[in-house]
Amino acid sequence: MTLPMTIPAPGLPTRVRIHEVGPRDGLQNEKTLVPAAVKAEFIHRLAEAGLTTIEATSFVHPKWVPQLADAEELMELIDDVDARLPVLVPNERGLDRALALGAREIAVFASATESFAKANLNRTVDGALEMFEPVVTKAKDAGAAVRGYLSMCFGDPWEGPVPISQTVSVSRRLMDMGCDEISLGDTIGVATPGHVREVLDTLNEAGVADDRLAVHFHDTYGQALANTLAALEHGVTTVDASAGGLGGCPYAKSATGNLATEDLVWMLDGLGIETGVDIGRLTATSVWMARHLGRPSPSRTVRALSQKEI
Ligand code: MG
Repeated sequence: MTLPMTIPAPGLPTRVRIHEVGPRDGLQNEKTLVPAAVKAEFIHRLAEAGLTTIEATSFVHPKWVPQLADAEELMELIDDVDARLPVLVPNERGLDRALALGAREIAVFASATESFAKANLNRTVDGALEMFEPVVTKAKDAGAAVRGYLSMCFGDPWEGPVPISQTVSVSRRLMDMGCDEISLGDTIGVATPGHVREVLDTLNEAGVADDRLAVHFHDTYGQALANTLAALEHGVTTVDASAGGLGGCPYAKSATGNLATEDLVWMLDGLGIETGVDIGRLTATSVWMARHLGRPSPSRTVRALSQKEI
């Protein structure tokens, strides 16, 4: 199989943890309903390809995300998977369901902007944080790790550029609430590397260190890998990506293209940065999932590798 030549570059971490979001963030935006058994096989295959953190599903109301209405059934089908399997929860009820099914890691989702908080959660930014506070407290009391997703950290489809101070203050509040990690979402994909550095610098100044941060870039404007490299140079070592580039965001029309895990692994392999992921097995998995969805993967690496040898 074609692989990149490995040539390390200075100032980068030796290891990166990929937070795989394909089964949740990816599939939730797919119209073709995927049966629970296929989702379970997807998650097993991702773990076998070496991914150690795989966001499995969401406990939001099925009315909002019909694709993930089978969360209960799925959890039982993946309880033998050897990986961290965080799940998204919207409120205390969702948390209770997730914990009862054995979830050890949960994620809540906040917004840096009022417009998106209203569109996605029908709340103000403050109202959403107030809603999540008891969820985070209860999850921590139950011994679960908590990730806080923060959407629209760099730009918002209604409001345009988002003031860095706004992103930093909501991040700080999520951290103060007890979140173990904050995932900075560039939901509409408008960030560029200097902007990423500035946001990270300002977060660090506000006491939010790089080791508590993850980055979640979208490739809408082709910037996801450049932004990832800027974040790695800064000191971030957790990167969100979606196998095969599945998904985007259902409430932000211009938001296409999660960073594809294969594109990320190609770059990290070339830089000699350890991920534990076998790019061939991962690509084969995304080709298999693309067949279930009836359309080719948007990942450049999946396309290049699958046209050649797989
Ligand atoms: Mg995403």
